[in-house]
Amino acid sequence: MTNSVTLTFLGGLGRIGRNCAALEIENRIVLLDCGQMFPEDLPGVDAVLPDFSWIIERSDQIEGCIITHAHEDHIGGLPHLLKEISIPIYGSKFTLGMIQAKLDYAGIRGIEKVELKDHDRRQIGPFDCEFLPVTHSTPSGLMTVFDTPQGTIVHSSDFKLDPTPVDGRTTDLVRLREIAEDRRIRLLLADSTNAGSSGKTVSESEIGPVLEEIFFHHQSQRIIVAAFSSHIHRIQQIADAAKKTNRTLVVLGPSMQRNVTLARELGLLKISDQMIASPEDIESLEPEETCIVCTGSQGEPRAALALLAKNEHRHLDIGKNDTVIFSSHPIPGNESAVSRLQNNLAFLGARLVHSGQVQVHTSGHGKQEELMELHETVNPELFIPVHGEYTHLVDHYELAIRRGMNEEKVALCTDGDQVLLTDSGLKKIERVSGKEIMIDEQGSRVSEELLQERQKLSGEGFILIRVIVDEEAGVLLEEPVVESRGWVEPSNREEWLTEVSQSVTNAVEAVLAKGERDLSKISRQARRATGQLVSERTGRRPTLIPVVEMR
Ligand SMILES: [Zn+2]
Ligand SMILES: [Zn+2]
Repeated sequence: MTNSVTLTFLGGLGRIGRNCAALEIENRIVLLDCGQMFPEDLPGVDAVLPDFSWIIERSDQIEGCIITHAHEDHIGGLPHLLKEISIPIYGSKFTLGMIQAKLDYAGIRGIEKVELKDHDRRQIGPFDCEFLPVTHSTPSGLMTVFDTPQGTIVHSSDFKLDPTPVDGRTTDLVRLREIAEDRRIRLLLADSTNAGSSGKTVSESEIGPVLEEIFFHHQSQRIIVAAFSSHIHRIQQIADAAKKTNRTLVVLGPSMQRNVTLARELGLLKISDQMIASPEDIESLEPEETCIVCTGSQGEPRAALALLAKNEHRHLDIGKNDTVIFSSHPIPGNESAVSRLQNNLAFLGARLVHSGQVQVHTSGHGKQEELMELHETVNPELFIPVHGEYTHLVDHYELAIRRGMNEEKVALCTDGDQVLLTDSGLKKIERVSGKEIMIDEQGSRVSEELLQERQKLSGEGFILIRVIVDEEAGVLLEEPVVESRGWVEPSNREEWLTEVSQSVTNAVEAVLAKGERDLSKISRQARRATGQLVSERTGRRPTLIPVVEMR
């Protein structure tokens, strides 16, 4: 249909993470974000990505990818996509710097990067785009205003309406209102992360004084603060509190060090050289003059804080001189890892401070009052809630209805939905793959089948049964050799394996006596005998691997 705009949602609608959408006019496509999701309890899976096959099939139609900000759920998929296709990437200077580090690590070269400044206006393919600043928990986030033949489409990006952000860079509702007054905004796509929470998100600048107070209160102690390495404004406030309490700042963890360096180079983080010491200096610094900022606040097993909690860090042993502040909140799914980490630190003697006690953290996403203000400002004709767990999308849908939007004007979409915007409004047209693509540490795909095998093995273990048959004589050449892992207690294993071997012998000899020589049938017999014994006697369902040979 001429002049229509097609929106394709490849990730981020239904579960938080792996945000990726495509906007299309007459076969010319602009991508919006390209993120990953961190897997929970998926053995051997390092990242969960959108299914890029829809994009790759259309690679010659892609004009570029706009990256709204530098969080993993918006940039983490890029190295995987850019291995397959080469397209220009648009983003703010900080966002592009974070992306470059990822591409360097992945050995991807030659990608065109286009820097966007606040209020820039750019033609990207068929779209006339204007980029407005938004406040979020990483610097230089951008809202995109797309002018299209179907009217203006606003994508909020992850945002909050913080009146006092640390860098003074507020979400530009003034310009947004101007645009909305100039021309009715056709469609709003907006962040739903906190749509289920009433009120307003606490301002980032309220966290600094709380940290400072804790630093003072634990004056004789070494302070260790765990935070997100992309949360430059939090790191600024940690550094400021350190300065006020005469502490030297030590940055631990490769990603924290990389981001601090980048943000200082870009002038987004103001810490003087004299304030910073290297990890090697920790031993020579007195606890009361030290503030360590590190990664690992989500219980990530390889992060600096995890090493400290296991007393495996090269430069520091945690003890009763340490106060550890969790300047973050566990992302849903990470709660138990964080609680284990806190236990270990407490066990070593550290004092703990976390957001359950005092306000050492605030969200980067706006709550209901802020969302309502965005809706009031934009006053869109049509609305699609994006960026959220499905319940968040529903909460945001209901908020729009409460504000007075007609149900037909709001489309509740999920990953894989394709929506057509025409003169008559929004219409779901078809489904593309919204599948979650699992990737291992080497970047190879992990199939659902492989994952299920791993999950079964991890819960039930396996039994290997090796049977060697004398073909001519129709007898077993030796007793079946049985091995197992993860099935029964190792201390009782031998007894069980002998029993399995015995019952396989009986079953296989019985069919051999009847003249059976077919390997797969003998194998099935060995499996059945083992399975029966295992389930009757232990009630378990380990993976059975019969190996039959004929000699
Ligand atoms: Zn974000
Ligand atoms: Zn996000």
